[in-house]
Amino acid sequence: MKFNGKKEFKDAIIKYGIAERKVIKFIKDEGDRIRAKCDWPMCPWVCLLKKTSLAESWLVTSFNDEHTCPKRRDNRLVTSTRIADRFERLIRANPAWSLHHLQATVQQEMFANVSLSKCKRAKALVMARWFDRTKGEYSRLYDY
Ligand SMILES: [Zn+2]
Repeated sequence: MKFNGKKEFKDAIIKYGIAERKVIKFIKDEGDRIRAKCDWPMCPWVCLLKKTSLAESWLVTSFNDEHTCPKRRDNRLVTSTRIADRFERLIRANPAWSLHHLQATVQQEMFANVSLSKCKRAKALVMARWFDRTKGEYSRLYDY
């Protein structure tokens, strides 16, 4: 497995963690290497990415794809930003939705238990993005 850089690797791992309901953390994030590890105590899943000296690419040099942990509902990877990204359209289409409703939707579709305050931040993020965009459109129309 080859990556263009650490960011691409991190994005892929986070996507994987959310989809598989695993909490992965990044340790040893140094100049030429980064290690992703399952957060569950004693779970052996680990993935090491290293910058190769020959090419300007990053390679997975060590990978154990075995999890002994359960599917996690307390997934820290499910952040307010990621909730906002995933449900932006839905939130905008249903501005009257209660935070409890959003919380239940996150639970159902991302299999994660998140706090109401996280849902509140996600909703605020969506609204702020929407506002910024609308403001941009208005200023183009009316030359504010
Ligand atoms: Zn695990």
